[in-house]
Amino acid sequence: MDRREVLKKGAVLALGGSLLPSGLLSASPLPHLAADLQCARPSLQNRKLGVALVGLGNYSTRQLAPALLETEHCYLAGIVTGTPQKAKEWSDKYSIPEKNIYNYQTFDRLRDNPDIDIVYVVLPNFMHAEYSIRAFEAGKHVICEKPMGLDADECKRMLAARDKAGKKLQVGYRLYYQPDHLKAVEVGSKGRLGKTKMMESGLGFRMAVPGIWRLDKNKGGGGAIMDLGVYCIQSVRRFAGELPRSVSAQGYNTNPDLFRGIYETVTFQLRYPSGAISNCTTSYNAYVDRFYAACEKGWLEINPSFNAGRVPDLKGSEEWTVDAPVSSYQSMAQMDAFALDIKNDRMVLASGEEGLIDLQIIDAVKQSMARGKEVEIIYGR
Ligand code: NAD
Repeated sequence: MDRREVLKKGAVLALGGSLLPSGLLSASPLPHLAADLQCARPSLQNRKLGVALVGLGNYSTRQLAPALLETEHCYLAGIVTGTPQKAKEWSDKYSIPEKNIYNYQTFDRLRDNPDIDIVYVVLPNFMHAEYSIRAFEAGKHVICEKPMGLDADECKRMLAARDKAGKKLQVGYRLYYQPDHLKAVEVGSKGRLGKTKMMESGLGFRMAVPGIWRLDKNKGGGGAIMDLGVYCIQSVRRFAGELPRSVSAQGYNTNPDLFRGIYETVTFQLRYPSGAISNCTTSYNAYVDRFYAACEKGWLEINPSFNAGRVPDLKGSEEWTVDAPVSSYQSMAQMDAFALDIKNDRMVLASGEEGLIDLQIIDAVKQSMARGKEVEIIYGR
């Protein structure tokens, strides 16, 4: 058993509500520890909430559906797919009844189906706003994959639809519920290592598949910065415990035939009111998966950090106790947390407001690249 395992097992033995980072108690970062169904809504108390996955591509197939076999507070109740063959395969594999299978033409009929409490939008980025808003109009709670929308304006429309429907929205930010990342946020935002001085964050890999929606400017929204930028932005602003006020960004493209109208790599520097700075890199051509922070009294690193297929590893100038993950599927804790937020009618940690902030920063990154200079970041609804 290595040091990390000892640390994690020690943490599990010492489990209790007191270990939850304060300030996060209104939501449910670690649902299996925080579950308090005493105050749950009576009609929801004794049942798992039904989730309908919309879009049965890679992420639904490899991560979300298997995770929904492990969740305690929600389960895979329905699917929305445009491919009849997939409908049959998923129905057989996950015992989904015919009445809970929809396509994109019948999507709005979800409103008449009491089996479905949560619609989980796992579609290409350009479809997030439309299907989330239609799901709210059908009276459902929504989880929307990242990035929440193509820009801040879309996010604001989604928030308005949520508020009008009186439902809840979670962005598919699995790392908001991941123990190494929760620990980093706690250490940084509480100043456990003194003031934050400098942070670096990067996520990138090779995405050399011509014709896919991720490389289409209108469908992906702008390449790696849209797909991967939210992870880098969240890690630095949440560790800093403050919002950056300005950004300088640079875009690079060594293969304009493949990356048409989008940047293959984007680097950007954020400045914070406290004087802290961060440098972030997103790339569709170079592998990187790391968060690093230098503070007055030490440093902290998560490496690997963001990729759903890898196990985050936190280390630093001090040893920190990190809780054991509840599952190898990070989305399990995320989805269970949302189900409990609905049952207990409490605030969502990975909220739509968090998604909006990240798109406001990404909008500013794009403006900075277009203008070739540092720009102020505009927040608010
Ligand atoms: P994918 O291309 O594998 O799947 C997309 C699905 O949407 C496919 O089933 C496709 O048939 C369907 N679809 C419906 N209408 C479409 C249209 N008009 N054009 C293209 N596809 C259409 O993509 P993915 O990797 O599963 O990503 C889906 C979403 O999930 C993206 O927003 C992505 O950012 C997000 N994602 C999140 C994570 C995470 O860790 N949170 C990981 C991977 C992907």
